[in-house]
Amino acid sequence: MNRVKGKVCIVTGGALGIGRSACRLLAQEGAKIAVTDLLEKEGSKVVEEITATGGTAQYWHLDVTKESEVKKVFADIQQQFGKIDVLVNNAGIAGVNKPTHEITEQEWDSLTAVNVKGVFFCTKHAIPHMKANRKGSIINISSIYGIISAPDVPPYHASKGAVRLMTKTDALLYAADNIRVNSVHPGYIWTPLVEKLANESPGGVAAFREQLKSLHPLGHEGEPDDIGWGIVYLASEEAKFMTGSELVIDGGYTAR
Ligand code: NAP
Repeated sequence: MNRVKGKVCIVTGGALGIGRSACRLLAQEGAKIAVTDLLEKEGSKVVEEITATGGTAQYWHLDVTKESEVKKVFADIQQQFGKIDVLVNNAGIAGVNKPTHEITEQEWDSLTAVNVKGVFFCTKHAIPHMKANRKGSIINISSIYGIISAPDVPPYHASKGAVRLMTKTDALLYAADNIRVNSVHPGYIWTPLVEKLANESPGGVAAFREQLKSLHPLGHEGEPDDIGWGIVYLASEEAKFMTGSELVIDGGYTAR
């Protein structure tokens, strides 16, 4: 019940999928949640779900690609909740699924703006608040696609590899400030993002799901709470000696 009691947690992309799970589970374990997203209706619903069960949460509209917005929203959260303990850099998009030689500059830039620059902006503007508080935990959602490759979504692979190493650099830079930085590497998790990939796949949703079974040695894809609980662990004091690490939650996908 109280694994992160009293901590103030910001979750980017908190309205759906893995972000929504992180918001709900962190709140269930006693944290105050800043739910941030582009989707106001869905984000406000997450807040309602949390407050209905006695938790504390508030919604902020936040596009992580806009530095001025990130700076302002984080200052508002600091003012509203008094501190920032945890940042979950979760907002991310899959981008186009084309071979490298067909990808346009605009397609490349629009993906990296969210998945890489968004993580940079949010980390940059959370750090001063965490330094002032003399502690913090930053949790960057990378992917199995940031560890191993597959012949698809090239900009996504590049972005998640970047997030993996940004995590380690920031872990070293801010260890002396007692700010821990770790990455999480989910296998396929059934969320609106993956549902969209399934809908767009040439063989259709059923064939896509069947393929996911064979990709994960445990025989199925994951669900958002499988990742949400990993995020709770990294946010909590249970992980106080963990920084610069990769938490792989993938049903065995990368074990082969
Ligand atoms: P999701 O279901 O699409 O949820 C992501 C949320 O982020 C959505 O609400 C989305 O809004 C929001 N978002 C998109 N662009 C944003 C921006 N510029 N600023 C703020 N919010 C933005 O995705 P998910 O599957 O939960 O993925 C969450 C994270 O896990 C991502 O970083 C993803 O790469 C990573 N991941 C997912 C899987 C998986 O299998 N699901 C596996 C490995 C890693 P819109 O719907 O409007 O875009």
